[in-house]
Amino acid sequence: MSGTRDTWGRLLRNLRISVTDRCNLRCAYCMPEEEYVWLPREEILHFEEIGRLVDVFIELGVDKVRLTGGEPLLRKDLPGLIRLLAAKPALRDLAITSNGILLGEQAQGLKDAGMHRVTVSLDTLKPSRFSLLTRRDTHAQVLEGLAAVTRAGFTDTKIDTVVMRGVNDDELGDLIEYGRTVPAEVRFIEYMDVGGATRWSMDKVVSRTDMLERLAARYGVITPVDEVTTAPADRYRLPDGTVFGIISSTTAPFCVDCDRSRLTADGLWYLCLYAQQGTDLRRPLRGGASTEALKALITGRWQARTDRGAEDRLAQRDRAPLLQVASLKRDPHLEMHTRGG
Ligand code: SAM
Repeated sequence: MSGTRDTWGRLLRNLRISVTDRCNLRCAYCMPEEEYVWLPREEILHFEEIGRLVDVFIELGVDKVRLTGGEPLLRKDLPGLIRLLAAKPALRDLAITSNGILLGEQAQGLKDAGMHRVTVSLDTLKPSRFSLLTRRDTHAQVLEGLAAVTRAGFTDTKIDTVVMRGVNDDELGDLIEYGRTVPAEVRFIEYMDVGGATRWSMDKVVSRTDMLERLAARYGVITPVDEVTTAPADRYRLPDGTVFGIISSTTAPFCVDCDRSRLTADGLWYLCLYAQQGTDLRRPLRGGASTEALKALITGRWQARTDRGAEDRLAQRDRAPLLQVASLKRDPHLEMHTRGG
């Protein structure tokens, strides 16, 4: 297959675009501190600039784009960007990851603008637990948001749940049951030691093996879905046919298949969720760089890519949070809420 490959043969295909670093939640595993260093507004890419970069990425083989953040629905006039991206036939998948709070108001607008799929992050079905985890009282809005996604006509909806020991690991089955009613496929994410997760520790991680054991105790035999994909989730089928996924980035990483890269709202491009350095695409873009020059810059970086960030983390003894607050304050691009999940 043609395309742009890195040193491990991984194709450049999947671009996650953070459209804002702002968020209306303060999830304990992502934004646990009191105060944040926000990206300067004048440095945030305009929609036309994002569109121009996406055109360059498309020429290099990208055919999947996911909008994320921060909370992407906080970006003013997001449907304007979606219309611009949806008009590019080379993008065979255009998705968004949202915390769901604003979906009640915005789901129909996203659909009308041409968004293909929606993923909603939801860690608990219990309102009081949601408030503790997110430091906001907006659980009901998230559930309304999910209902609005279905009403707007979206299919292939996903619910992403970060599973933490002693926090929400008693809700795996209940979340699957809830997913059936939406309908949405639930994907359980192992708690990751990424930037922003300053209170992470290995004992709070519930491994894929552990999750499967718990679900098997409730449902009986669980069968892996037989499929070849570079998607981060391994998918499984319950005896009644319900499918769910597990993203095991912490205990069983999948760097070998990683075709993802991330663009921050201010135009820094990161090749790995664990990367400490990104490539500044805003500066050449605003400096008048030609499409060929941007292509050369991106191709050169991708072809030189060697990282296997999650696998390197796994190999570490005495694994602790990736970064301390002081480094996050020095460079907000290291935050998960800046580079997008
Ligand atoms: N605001 C949007 C949302 O809530 O989905 C998009 C941005 S959020 C950073 C994207 C995803 O990253 C969410 O599903 C969130 O749960 C996940 N995430 C953040 N920190 C994480 C961590 N330490 N481990 C695993 N997933 C994490």
